[in-house]
Amino acid sequence: MAYLLKHPDDYTSALHRSEELKTLAEPYLTMRSQIPSGMELSADYEERRRHILHSFSATQTEWEDWHWQMKHRVTDVDTLAQLLPLEASELDVIAKTAQNYRWAVSPYYLSLIDSTNPLDPIRLQALPSLPELDDNFGEDDPMGEALTSPAPCITRRYPDRLIINVTNMCAMYCRHCQRRRNIGETDRHEPKNQLKSALEYIRNNPEIRDVLITGGDALLLSDQTLNWLLAELHAIPHVEIKRIGTRVPVTLPMRITDELVHILANYPPIYINTQYNHPKEVTLASKKAIDRLITAGVVMGNQAVLLKGINNEPHVMKKLNQELLKIRVRPYYIFHAKNVKGTRHFVPRIQDGLAIMDQLRGQTSGLAIPTYILNAPKGGGKTPLLPQYLLHLKGNRAILRTWEGKIVDYTTP
Ligand code: SF4
Repeated sequence: MAYLLKHPDDYTSALHRSEELKTLAEPYLTMRSQIPSGMELSADYEERRRHILHSFSATQTEWEDWHWQMKHRVTDVDTLAQLLPLEASELDVIAKTAQNYRWAVSPYYLSLIDSTNPLDPIRLQALPSLPELDDNFGEDDPMGEALTSPAPCITRRYPDRLIINVTNMCAMYCRHCQRRRNIGETDRHEPKNQLKSALEYIRNNPEIRDVLITGGDALLLSDQTLNWLLAELHAIPHVEIKRIGTRVPVTLPMRITDELVHILANYPPIYINTQYNHPKEVTLASKKAIDRLITAGVVMGNQAVLLKGINNEPHVMKKLNQELLKIRVRPYYIFHAKNVKGTRHFVPRIQDGLAIMDQLRGQTSGLAIPTYILNAPKGGGKTPLLPQYLLHLKGNRAILRTWEGKIVDYTTP
């Protein structure tokens, strides 16, 4: 049709622009294959997994049972030494740090560790290291959560939503955890009478339309307790949405059982935010867990933590977000790591986060671009950080910087 015909010059300029865009894509394409991904685990991975299974004299069926995984969380260096070929000096460091900070890793998450690489991103998140003992940094509770609890188990920092903390238990105690003060010496779910008080507070405050169930890891509650809690929240007319904070799709994907999915499907709408921090965590087992949650009607999002040495590099974060979109998890937030005692070695510079945001915008789909958030200290709330795109604004005239760095003069009517 005539109106589709283009002048040959149009193609020439479009082809020229295509070449320019191709050049812009190249640095990432060159790097992408060097960033390990959970979907392309090396042959060593299967060998390691079999070795762990063999060491526990376990079957494949047991491996896929989340209760078995929880019961066999690795929590001491003697067991660890049998499962991963670590040097004696490396084991000493773990034992020394463990005197101050508890640790535990599910066999599944442990199997993802490349023990030949001391900087392996899974290892850095899972195994204690000496910098944790640096006492000259941070606070136990930089968010001041203890000061924002108007009722048992509740944290309230915003007008229309709140958190119920239901447990201090996790499948893996992340070395960068902002709530490591709650991990303590023993695992403990909140007793039912405390949860009942929290529900009572929500019933009595009709402005609360959004409730986040978290911990610890909310999906470590029993099916029975989760079912009860979700049913109670579902019955409160002003609670419009329920959210669940959990890392089990990453650290214990076998927790997403048929029974759990059946429960979740009964109480829509449910939103789950999880925490993938590196593309190596996006494995086939993890994808299967996400598929099940999505089948139950759950909407999935990811809240990555920006961690020095793990993902504070634009190409790594881009690959992570693109891998997440492939498994239907929407990158939602990148949280700047907080100044938590024992985590100094993970805290990046704000410049790192801004450089990542700058290199995502325009370079990849908007869907792969989360919001970069710094939590203002002492409960000051989520503060979004963005590179500068609006250079000047006066009256109806703006000077903008585009994603490619071109300066544009823009006037509104
Ligand atoms: S799963 Fe969440 S709460 Fe648990 S240790 Fe990791 S970061 Fe902390």
